Amino acid sequence: MATYSDLDGIAAAAAIDEARLWSHLVGFGEIGGIGGGGVCRLALGEEELAARRHIASWAQSRGYRVFVDPVANLFVRREGTDPGAAPVITGSHIDTQPQGGRFDGAYGVIAALEALAALDGASVKTRRPIEVVAWTNEEGVRFTPGAMGSMVFSGALALSDIAGRRGSDGVTLSAALASALAATPQATFRPTVPPIAAYVEAHIEQGPELEARGIPIGIVEGIQGVRWFDIEVSGSGAHAGTTPLSRRRDAFQDALRIVSALNDWTSDRGDVLRFTVGRFDLTPNSRNTVPARASLGIDLRHPDANVLREKGDRIAAIAAAAARYCAVSVREVFTKAPASFDAAVIGTIEAATRLLRIPALRMSSGAFHDALFLNDVCPAGMIFIPCEAGISHDPAESITSVQAAAGARVLAATLVALAGADGDVR
Ligand SMILES: [Zn+2]
Repeated sequence: MATYSDLDGIAAAAAIDEARLWSHLVGFGEIGGIGGGGVCRLALGEEELAARRHIASWAQSRGYRVFVDPVANLFVRREGTDPGAAPVITGSHIDTQPQGGRFDGAYGVIAALEALAALDGASVKTRRPIEVVAWTNEEGVRFTPGAMGSMVFSGALALSDIAGRRGSDGVTLSAALASALAATPQATFRPTVPPIAAYVEAHIEQGPELEARGIPIGIVEGIQGVRWFDIEVSGSGAHAGTTPLSRRRDAFQDALRIVSALNDWTSDRGDVLRFTVGRFDLTPNSRNTVPARASLGIDLRHPDANVLREKGDRIAAIAAAAARYCAVSVREVFTKAPASFDAAVIGTIEAATRLLRIPALRMSSGAFHDALFLNDVCPAGMIFIPCEAGISHDPAESITSVQAAAGARVLAATLVALAGADGDVR
């Protein structure tokens, strides 16, 4: 038997307006647009403040209240019938990479605003309030660390510890936050975090899987874990013309042996494990000098904690054994265990896709998202939509209006289910 949530979820999904959503996405992408479909909206910068103003005035014109917190996370609140109930939160980020695309982050915010408009259009009342959030500084380009807004919100990071930091342009974080708060004067300052019923984030996949399989929705079960290692290879500098090969301690040649051995160690027939040497520096990096030192930055990722432990724990020993002439030191500089999203939220998203008869695939996220940190403080989940060729963090990032609307429909029905239709028995 269909519940009120089901009926209201179908009604809300049906009220998603594909053309309205698409023109909102395209128009929003012009804020900080750099041509060729690209966007540069660095966190708390002028263009990003313009995007905040746009969201706040959109909300105000539709009668929603707007809130802002100490780290300038921006919330648009649609009230529920039970004013004391903990809200369901949905959203993503509106900052971009310097040469970013129009949809990374922005899709999750604009699709969530469309979901609010659809709930209104279908006259759906929910018991819980629904809040759309734009998290501050997910990308971590101008200020570090990334996911700053969601980390501070969830208590993973204290704002007082980072407020004095300077951005890449020399502006302090506290000054940049003050200008962001001033940009939306209609927002009520909310210094403390309210209890949250659930969090769901819609996002482009930023990978090729959904498109390759022709599936419109990804139900994200978790975010893979990551370990970062710095490897230093120390040999001896020497003249490239006078030093016989037999007398060299060439750090570059040993670094090649190390990378080759690690490629073997991390090769994965299932192509799930991600091993990247993303940074490589030589000293002195001069054509006619045998390199004295090589420095490698390694990124290792896998959704299974056991695999991540097994593969990562042997990296130091394999690197040391592979070097023939040089000393090797390996240091682990960052680690984040794989995260699993809440089973009930995953099930609610899956139920929404069935209700709407939209094909969906359960999958793991290869990239970090704000939802990773929300997952520590409330039941959380994510909805992916495909993006063209998996390209992201690039002006070529692209989705279709049909894909955008399908994700918004699933999001709307999921929000109704999480927030509870007013008529449901509870
Ligand atoms: Zn993103």
